[in-house]
Amino acid sequence: MSASIDGAVAILESAVAELKPEAAFAMFSGGHDSLCSTHLAMSTEIPQAVVHINTGIGIPQTREFVRNTCAAYGWPLLEYHPPKLTYRDIVLKFGFPGPGFHHVPYRWLKERAIDAIVRENKRTRLGKVMLITGVRRSESTRRMGHVKPSLTKGARAWVAPIIGWDDHDKNEYMQEYEIPRNEVVDLLCMSGECLCGAFAKPGELDEIRTWFPGTAAEIDALAEEAAALGKHAIWGARQKRSRVPKEQMPMDLCWSCEAKLERMEESYGTSEVSREARI
Ligand code: SF4
Repeated sequence: MSASIDGAVAILESAVAELKPEAAFAMFSGGHDSLCSTHLAMSTEIPQAVVHINTGIGIPQTREFVRNTCAAYGWPLLEYHPPKLTYRDIVLKFGFPGPGFHHVPYRWLKERAIDAIVRENKRTRLGKVMLITGVRRSESTRRMGHVKPSLTKGARAWVAPIIGWDDHDKNEYMQEYEIPRNEVVDLLCMSGECLCGAFAKPGELDEIRTWFPGTAAEIDALAEEAAALGKHAIWGARQKRSRVPKEQMPMDLCWSCEAKLERMEESYGTSEVSREARI
């Protein structure tokens, strides 16, 4: 384990030496991957704060877990919200984003929030803001061959210190440091902090309803509002006219949903999922 930790810290230190970021943040969704990367990063002096992107649609217990964990460890927490359109705005304007309609929530809920973090913290024209994530290569076979520990896109410098960790490394790290677990992850096998529905798996809303009925009720109420406006009102279902080719659907900010999509492909078959999720 110490080799994995040393390797992760080395990734962070070499990214700092190479990129000389003007600010650095540990991105914490509430899932266990980003919990480990955040815990590890905050044990160095590299990130100045933890960032949680609150997209406005997700399981509140995960947001509470993020807030409580940061408070317990004494990590400063910044919560960013999409600055313009909220999830509700999107649903009432375009209908629920199902498979093939990922580009809208991606752009308005994720991209805009990241833009705000970078804009507020970049000090010079060519400056970089480091965003430390819990992306792991073993979570995504699609990324396995090409994902790198650090990747710069404009002023955004993404760094994935635990990129080489597998599930065993993650669990061992959590046990060794006695890091509290998020019960949402243990119940749903996902952090549930973002539930746009674009990559919902079959039966996902029923599962959410079983454990977190308040969140399901919120989605149901929004569905009623959308239906009254004549918009697509079924969460997680494909809109009739959405036909976005795979290559136009970025996943860079939606790692956990990309990994979920791959697990769905394994369970239900690639062609079946591709037909529903990608077309
Ligand atoms: S695809 Fe997943 S992570 Fe991306 S906006 Fe939708 S729910 Fe959030």
